[in-house]
Amino acid sequence: MENIEHKRRIVLVPLPLQGHVTPMMQLGKALTLKGFSITVALGQLNPVSSWQHFPGFQFITITESLPLSEIEALGPVEFLIKNNNTSEASFKDCISQLLTQQGNDIACIIYDDLMYFCEAAAKEFKVPSIIFSTTSATHKACFSVLTKLNPKKFLIDMEDLELQNKLVENLHPLRYKDLPIAGFGPLDRFVELCKEVLNRRTSSAVIVNTVSCLESLSLTRMQQDFGIPVYTLGPLHITAASATYSLLEEDKSCIEWLNKQKPRSVIYISLGSIFDMGTKEVLEMAWGLCDSNQPFLWVIRNGYESLPEEVSKMVSERGYIVKWAPQSEVLAHPAVGGFWSHCGWNSTLESIAEGVPMICRPFNGEQNLNAVYIENVWRIGILLQGEVERGVVERAVKKLIMDDEGVLMRERAIVLKEKLISSVRNGGSSYNALTELVNHLNTD
Ligand code: UDP
Repeated sequence: MENIEHKRRIVLVPLPLQGHVTPMMQLGKALTLKGFSITVALGQLNPVSSWQHFPGFQFITITESLPLSEIEALGPVEFLIKNNNTSEASFKDCISQLLTQQGNDIACIIYDDLMYFCEAAAKEFKVPSIIFSTTSATHKACFSVLTKLNPKKFLIDMEDLELQNKLVENLHPLRYKDLPIAGFGPLDRFVELCKEVLNRRTSSAVIVNTVSCLESLSLTRMQQDFGIPVYTLGPLHITAASATYSLLEEDKSCIEWLNKQKPRSVIYISLGSIFDMGTKEVLEMAWGLCDSNQPFLWVIRNGYESLPEEVSKMVSERGYIVKWAPQSEVLAHPAVGGFWSHCGWNSTLESIAEGVPMICRPFNGEQNLNAVYIENVWRIGILLQGEVERGVVERAVKKLIMDDEGVLMRERAIVLKEKLISSVRNGGSSYNALTELVNHLNTD
């Protein structure tokens, strides 16, 4: 039997939101398969019960970190900056204690790039550290562009249509208006955060949950910007297959419902773990879905009860509603023909990995960026802008599920799916990158 004491320990520090936890835990699983043991350092942010899904991982607490509930009051950027300031000292305490327990053998601290306070502890205790990016390489390449701009001048420039549509150098086909700033408050503060995120300090490598065939141009740029090895290990949900890292309880009854639907007929609707539609949009969505005559599976985190009474009956006749779905399983189901998504990076990768074309309804700049790639680069989806009203919903769903254009999008998505699967197989780019990362960890 393997002796766990002799495994080298890796400390993972995720930002404790679903879209960040999931890939970090998948990375942890991939590394346990390579012989490392895992400690996860968390703020006092989540009920302990949420974390019991991770057998074999050790958990420690960063006592002084900011509660997640502060996000709403502070906004995402101020929350992240403040959390980095408040967490640094107590994370040093965590690492100090852990080093004593581990006989000074910590192979590496791998931290979410938004938790950059971790590097101070790594530096002080001379523990190697690696940055982990849970968003796309293009997102990080855009951070680099943003840090070189004058925020005030940029905002004035963006009132000019021609400048809005100007292409960003070396990031074709992105235009300046696609830079991911929407939803992150005052630009100067966001740019401050971007600078912190791009500052590699003493870290020796960057891991990105992406695949080189999806965004090779951005990866080249990222490599140049960071000047240290960039390991592309994605999609981590395939590398660490069969691991469920949901913080909420998945309602698996929807799989039985999907089993009764025709192949490729269902539109799956989910807006991730944070964003919600407004009441008016929910109503228009419900009408549009019903008018499309396609069956639908809809994740509404507040539940069926939150729907206005006039629509709940109609919706329950044509579709199925859950508070939280087993998303990867849903996307892999043969009945699913399309994904109405907010285009979070995890959802984007999960959809591509199952060859499912998308209707993109992004809420913030990062999701908008992913949507630009989905529609214009990979050409596997339709971007919806402006107000969502029932006619728009009906046409988009029909176009994706029934029209020739939708069929072509699905064909292209299936080609990408095959490429992603090849990337994690023996000899593929992500497979090789994982091997290189393990060598890096063993020699650092
Ligand atoms: N997810 C899920 N069930 C749901 C909705 C979402 O398991 O009903 C998962 C999804 O598979 C993805 C994550 O939640 O891994 C959402 O991450 P993403 O980056 O797409 O969006 P975010 O929630 O960060 O906005």
